[in-house]
Amino acid sequence: LVRASNVRKSYGHVEVLKGVSLTVKPGEVMCLLGPSGSGKSTFLRCINHLERINGGRIEVGGDLVGYARRHGKIFEMNPREVSRQRRGIGMVFQRFNLFPHMTALENIMAAPVGVKKVERSAAKARAYELLERVGLSHVAGHYPAQLSGGQQQRVAIARALAMDPELLLFDEPTSALDPELVGDVLDVMRQLAADGMTMIVVTHEIGFARSVADTVVFMDGGVVVEAGSPAEVLDNPQNPRTVAFLNSVM
Ligand code: ATP
Ligand code: MG
Repeated sequence: LVRASNVRKSYGHVEVLKGVSLTVKPGEVMCLLGPSGSGKSTFLRCINHLERINGGRIEVGGDLVGYARRHGKIFEMNPREVSRQRRGIGMVFQRFNLFPHMTALENIMAAPVGVKKVERSAAKARAYELLERVGLSHVAGHYPAQLSGGQQQRVAIARALAMDPELLLFDEPTSALDPELVGDVLDVMRQLAADGMTMIVVTHEIGFARSVADTVVFMDGGVVVEAGSPAEVLDNPQNPRTVAFLNSVM
């Protein structure tokens, strides 16, 4: 479903991604680990074209990210095409960025109604279903400020799901949470994985990676240092940098 080949990204003269290649199959969960500044967030942002890459290519669902073919030639997408493409890719950030002036239910309905032009009644019914799925139907009418961080993050997941994405990207979804709230969010993500959702998850939750990931990728300095099954990368790492990183977080 995702194929990244030799992806390069620079900010000014600083090259942050130095040729990242990886593939994610439909239904696969990939956990992306690596020290601060290794380029994990940048790579996620490139996948949904929040950042423009300077080299290489990224395909999602067989389509080039940010580029369209017209009459056999390749063109950079216009903003409208970019936003259409981005609809198929959900993203959940470290900081729950819900709309503060909307209830949980309204947050989930906003994009289906505003962007996809789904009828309000249908969008509302679906939003209730999604709230139920993340265990929050009892707070449908609450505003973000009335919800715990973990609840807000689960609403953010439901909001991403409301657009029926083929791919979900998570950027450290639990690292801003109080420890006692982390488990509920991870449980929702675990359930999504079991339901067959394709996900790329940047996380330092090694236990989650071990039990849920199909593939674990360790990035450092803008390159993929090591990739493989959790058993390979987490329990039998081959690269000294992976070993050092794992020792620092476990
Ligand atoms: P963390 O674990 O701290 O979230 P990360 O692996 O997600 O780290 P990135 O956020 O992708 O790392 O950043 C990689 C490098 O790119 C860092 O050195 C960062 O300072 C730099 N960088 C990221 N975004 C920008 C930007 N918009 N402009 C300039 N430099 C940036
Ligand atoms: Mg980051």
